[in-house]
Amino acid sequence: MNSAIFEEIYTDWINNFDSGNGYEFFAKKFGFSSAEAARSSFRRERRKRGLKRENGIVEQKKIVKKSPKILIFDIETSFIQAAVWSLGKQYVNKRQILKDWFCFSYSAKWLYDDAVMSGVLTPEEAKNGNDKRIMEELWNLLSECSIAITYNGNFFDIPKVNTRFIINGFAPPHPYKSIDVYQTISRVFAFSSKSMDFVSYKLELERKLENSGMELWMACSEGKPEALLEMVTYNKQDVVCLETDYLRIRPWIKNHPNIGVWHDSKERVCGFCGSDNLRLTDKTYPTPAGIYKTFRCNDCDGIGRSKENELSKEKRKVISPNI
Ligand SMILES: [Zn+2]
Repeated sequence: MNSAIFEEIYTDWINNFDSGNGYEFFAKKFGFSSAEAARSSFRRERRKRGLKRENGIVEQKKIVKKSPKILIFDIETSFIQAAVWSLGKQYVNKRQILKDWFCFSYSAKWLYDDAVMSGVLTPEEAKNGNDKRIMEELWNLLSECSIAITYNGNFFDIPKVNTRFIINGFAPPHPYKSIDVYQTISRVFAFSSKSMDFVSYKLELERKLENSGMELWMACSEGKPEALLEMVTYNKQDVVCLETDYLRIRPWIKNHPNIGVWHDSKERVCGFCGSDNLRLTDKTYPTPAGIYKTFRCNDCDGIGRSKENELSKEKRKVISPNI
């Protein structure tokens, strides 16, 4: 959504649409397909800009643009086709594989960027299980990024794409740090379902698209063009959702790569988002060898600590760490 359109809707939105112009009005004015499309696009832009309306107070959270290259990505894979003797739960031997899995599509976006990139197999490629072309595109993106954000990528997307990379004859992509949002969802929280869509629903974030499930996967395997298009459309929405989930979950992520190391700023910056808009808290953080002041980021709510030990040299000498 461009800035002029956003600002016009935003002006009415913060005033609870007192003027009487709702999403329907803006949809017609700016050429959205429906009021819902306008609302959804506006909401996405608003979240991206970190603008929220809380009890009538508008709080602006600046999004920091200066950052390492952070890629959000997701893939859709085919099922394994196998010959089985009966239905029901059973052991399927590798010799029963008729056609092994491969990737139908990928989607990716740079953090904060509007454009969603994607690649999908042609009908011919899908029938032949040939994903080399789209894997090369994804390989280039992964080699370009410093950090890759996924949902369950540590156990699914990353090993899956690595498998397709090596099968297709590629070298390892340039190393990148992985942020798997699912890891935080499963370790830090107790959502009743750990699926991305359930978490998005509970947090009132951007939602995934529905799909017809097995039928869609079958049709893609047969190389049906409309199915492949539906697959990549579904895939593209996933990275849009993942971005909003990531931004919301970000301050809770343990061992988040320290964004500060990519910055050339002389000021102290937030390790989560790179902002220098920090405030000192009145609390401290202990380690076995010292105690440190802590900071809260005014932009992303992340907490960091100072590197200067508050303990004097004399005090440090008499500290005996537990063993
Ligand atoms: Zn921050």
